[in-house]
Amino acid sequence: MPLFSLPGVHVPHRKNTSDMAAVKEFMPKSVLIPTAMHIGKPASVCVKPNQEVKVGELIAAADGFVSSNIYSSVSGKVKKIDSVLLSNGSYVPGVLIESDRLMTPYEGITPPEITDYKSFIDALSKSGIVGLGGAGFPTQVKLSVKDLSLIEEIIINGAECEPYITSDTRTMIDDADKIKDGIELLKKYLLAKKVTIGIENNKPQAIKKMVETFKDDTAVNVKALPSLYPQGGEKVLIYNITGKVVPEGKLPIDVGVIVINCTTVAAIADFVKTGMPLVSKCVTVDGSAVKEPKNVIAPIGSSISELIEFAGGFKEEPGKVLYGGPMMGIAVPSLDSPVLKNTNAIIALNKKDSVTPEPTECIRCGMCVNNCPFNLQPVKIAAAYNNKDGAELKDLKVNLCMECGCCSYVCPARRPLVQTNRLGKGYLREFLAMEAKKAQEEKA
Ligand code: SF4
Ligand code: SF4
Repeated sequence: MPLFSLPGVHVPHRKNTSDMAAVKEFMPKSVLIPTAMHIGKPASVCVKPNQEVKVGELIAAADGFVSSNIYSSVSGKVKKIDSVLLSNGSYVPGVLIESDRLMTPYEGITPPEITDYKSFIDALSKSGIVGLGGAGFPTQVKLSVKDLSLIEEIIINGAECEPYITSDTRTMIDDADKIKDGIELLKKYLLAKKVTIGIENNKPQAIKKMVETFKDDTAVNVKALPSLYPQGGEKVLIYNITGKVVPEGKLPIDVGVIVINCTTVAAIADFVKTGMPLVSKCVTVDGSAVKEPKNVIAPIGSSISELIEFAGGFKEEPGKVLYGGPMMGIAVPSLDSPVLKNTNAIIALNKKDSVTPEPTECIRCGMCVNNCPFNLQPVKIAAAYNNKDGAELKDLKVNLCMECGCCSYVCPARRPLVQTNRLGKGYLREFLAMEAKKAQEEKA
């Protein structure tokens, strides 16, 4: 695998809400909770229309280990089992619940009994917690390690490098105790001897709070990192903190590292202490089209339109509304779409900020290659994709592309490079599946 060549690109920070503690008073009229908000198999709905539910009650059960339980985020009545359109164009079942606005907790909630690593992972598999930084990987899977002695270091990802987003920043400032408790759990059950919290240096308040919180803990280091996008990318963060390169096709644990998002750590602590599973999420609502940007604790399944209304509504017509930031965010299918477990921001940009510039001819400046954290070659990838050359896409290692968008961002010709990379990755998957099928048929 190529080495990382550059520290990243400078993007505007626009952290307008970093001084704003998350507002907790937001209460949606209803929630639509999809059964697929995680990597892995969708959960199976286990409630029926007209059934009364309470906050933290199971409404869809995980289908296997690489899946995640889903719990009601409000108390009220199940209206119907609906179909929800996701950003990737697929439809999955979702549970529509009309809130009674009482937020009554489910009486069956009790803290899990944890005595060792196995019971810790078992508990997490019931918590509904997934990677809250955006990845959505079920946390019990992420923390499952064959041999705990392989773990040399746990990295807590507080980089939050995308413009606008400050939900992790607020967690580090407002819920520092939960992060402390979560790290204690990781130290106790994963036997982690060294923990490093990586935070970009444009978040001085968060760095100060973490330094204060861990001043007496010699096992925990707080590392201020340059504010360079994509600092929060898992492999980039590992390299910038440890100097280690995760080899192609390998996982962080193969170089002795586990990376976990800071808000996920706080959610683990909350669940272990109270037994309340993941039912809400701190979401940054911002962007040039939003009247009163803020951080909001939103019940999962809240509609984006209600959330934006809570932030004063639109001050002008939006051109684009995104799940996540402007670099890696994905367009929301509709304003009725729900807040998902891994939604860290809803960013609404005005029409001017949403204009995609007309691409011009490539001038072969090489900036896209020079600014790719993995030294990929987006121009060659685009050509291979246009020629439908799966073998070439494989050779060019398009599968390593993390879709960070640095190449598109720096391209003076405004070529849609990240988009062709994404298409190239999809084509390579199809090509490899076809190759595997052919090989099987030849064998038979
Ligand atoms: S940055 Fe843009 S113009 Fe420069 S080589 Fe890459 S695609 Fe061509
Ligand atoms: S989007 Fe992919 S190719 Fe472009 S800079 Fe990021 S990792 Fe490299």
